[in-house]
Amino acid sequence: EERVIEPGEQDVDSWQYSLRPRRLVEYIGQEQVKSNLSIFVQAALARGEALDHVLLYGPPGLGKTTLAGIVANELGVNFRITSGPAIERPGDLASLLTNLGEKDLLFIDEIHRLSRAVEEVLYSAMEDYALDIIIGKGPSARSIRLDLPKFTLVGATTKAGALAAPLRDRFGVICRLEYYETEHLTCIVNRAAEILKVDIEPRGAVEIARRSRGTPRIANRLLKRVRDFAQVTGDGVITDAIADKALELLEVDKRGLDKTDRSMLNAIIKKFNGGPVGLDTLAAAISEETETIEDVYEPFLLQMGFIARTPRGRVATPAAYAHLNIAYEDKGKN
Ligand code: ADP
Repeated sequence: EERVIEPGEQDVDSWQYSLRPRRLVEYIGQEQVKSNLSIFVQAALARGEALDHVLLYGPPGLGKTTLAGIVANELGVNFRITSGPAIERPGDLASLLTNLGEKDLLFIDEIHRLSRAVEEVLYSAMEDYALDIIIGKGPSARSIRLDLPKFTLVGATTKAGALAAPLRDRFGVICRLEYYETEHLTCIVNRAAEILKVDIEPRGAVEIARRSRGTPRIANRLLKRVRDFAQVTGDGVITDAIADKALELLEVDKRGLDKTDRSMLNAIIKKFNGGPVGLDTLAAAISEETETIEDVYEPFLLQMGFIARTPRGRVATPAAYAHLNIAYEDKGKN
């Protein structure tokens, strides 16, 4: 069963491509990142040069791919898209790079998952716009240098810390995307509703926005689910009451937590007496992958103030106890 609040890309999301904004002015929120990028884009255009390499980092579904596409549009260059795991060998990267046009933008999603061998080829490509290739084997082997067009690399990753330092250092621009405020998500929901011709009341949009864990991809997905519910059980109009009922059925609570978030908090509180507990132990206790918890659940629960990080592990905060209706004073009595 697909988890509705999973912020990673799912097959059902392909329809969302039509919702992707194409220009910077249509991109809602992330004001700091937008104004920085806008200045760098204008400067590159004025000088007639390729834009510096850009690293975008932040949790999945916040709009990194969308933003990279917008930057290519604003620059008026081609947008090529690939991902770390898709580039298996140095040769794959070489053929990608040699097929780029002057100033084109290459987007590498999940750039922290590049293999070591590929990463090393990428260094000279980013720095010198050149590839050093070994031809032949044994004593007759020789190295040739291949010039590349001046391209822009935009890399995306969930955590900047997951990147090897030499790679990170080769990005001239590093931008961190933040979870969206309810206000901005409300605009995103309303914009999507307009494009999809969905009838939605302002308070219905706020209800969906509030429960989308700060993530546009989830907001769009919830909108679609709630629309189905409104069509079947009502007259098709999304009111706050309809949104609330539909989200309750989807087990998305008032603050946007789903079953896994709650079972994670419950485990910290009940099995580990509030913590601290290490990530691996916690992952095992709720049968989740450590990586998923690290990339998806933990950042959101930290942002919401339901967990805190300590040197010895994660602890549940009083707010988490309150949210789950567990008395904080009972801590230690189990
Ligand atoms: P990421 O690459 O960070 O995982 P995406 O760029 O694929 O995220 O964004 C997911 C979806 O959310 C997109 O299809 C787009 O419709 C929507 N989206 C993301 N950011 C915005 C934004 N700032 N304004 C409007 N829609 C957005």
